Amino acid sequence: MPKHFNYRKLAFETYDPVCAHCGFGIPAVLEVAHIDCDRSNNDISNLVILCPNCHKMHDLDIISTETILQMRDRPKVVDWKKRMKNAGEKAALTRKRSMAAKKAAETRRRNMAAEGTVGDAFEKLSLAEAKSNSKVG
Ligand SMILES: [Zn+2]
Repeated sequence: MPKHFNYRKLAFETYDPVCAHCGFGIPAVLEVAHIDCDRSNNDISNLVILCPNCHKMHDLDIISTETILQMRDRPKVVDWKKRMKNAGEKAALTRKRSMAAKKAAETRRRNMAAEGTVGDAFEKLSLAEAKSNSKVG
């Protein structure tokens, strides 16, 4: 291999242009690491794209070579199910709460309208709503 072999170009042509370990993806910041730390070994299997953090952590063996290889070679598929597992439940709870709040506001409005003049009721209502809003959250 020539002395100034462009291993960076080779790595970017072969692998996704993201840090193999953490997924960071600004190409200008990404580095190409020699997995065995031998800078003359430019075989594609010895190269991995890493961000400066992960590169340093691999050099210090905080991230193992085994992990780097595994992360480099596994498919980069995002599984949103892991994050969204109870999104439906949360949305249902929010709906339930806002329905209950609406119902309570309507009841207050009705009660106050029955008590006094409309103008008076609106004044009381905005006070009551301000109070109940400050309790929320
Ligand atoms: Zn990284």
